[in-house]
Amino acid sequence: MQVIATYFKYDTAPMHLFLDTEFTDLLHCELLSIGIVTEDGQEFYAERSDADLAQCSDFCRVAVLPLLGSEQAAICTEAELSTRLKAWLAKFEHAGQVLVSVDHPTDWELFTYLARDEDTLKVPDWIRGQSIRSSIDPRDIEEYWRLNGRRDHHALHDAKALCFAWQQSAKGNECI
Ligand SMILES: [Mg+2]
Repeated sequence: MQVIATYFKYDTAPMHLFLDTEFTDLLHCELLSIGIVTEDGQEFYAERSDADLAQCSDFCRVAVLPLLGSEQAAICTEAELSTRLKAWLAKFEHAGQVLVSVDHPTDWELFTYLARDEDTLKVPDWIRGQSIRSSIDPRDIEEYWRLNGRRDHHALHDAKALCFAWQQSAKGNECI
């Protein structure tokens, strides 16, 4: 597990990404979709066309599957998704360190599987992960849905909500 709950010390501020995934089931976990947003609003979103939907939990069938399929260009095989993700991430390499925030370790596990180098089987060392679950206030997530319309359990919208909650918590920290 590479998720680290503490914060890294960087010489310069890292590019901060917020990640969320949707998957079939925690026990029989297969990626369905992935959404990433940067603090300055750049987005990545993709859905798998080749996932085994028979693995979906009842919750997934009710809450996740109905939100998939609205963006045809985002639908691709797992292999193509990995290629697209690596190409999208590569544009941040010049910025130095990329910090990927998640609120659940499964998001990081699924991300690293897609973003890892084929030879080393590791994500590039300029990409780091951290859990911000304990740093955000669930009320800020709810505030995001109130302001933007509720689309929770859609990976890109969940990633945006996570980013919003993080920014709200950062504002709170500045006030202390
Ligand atoms: Mg989600």
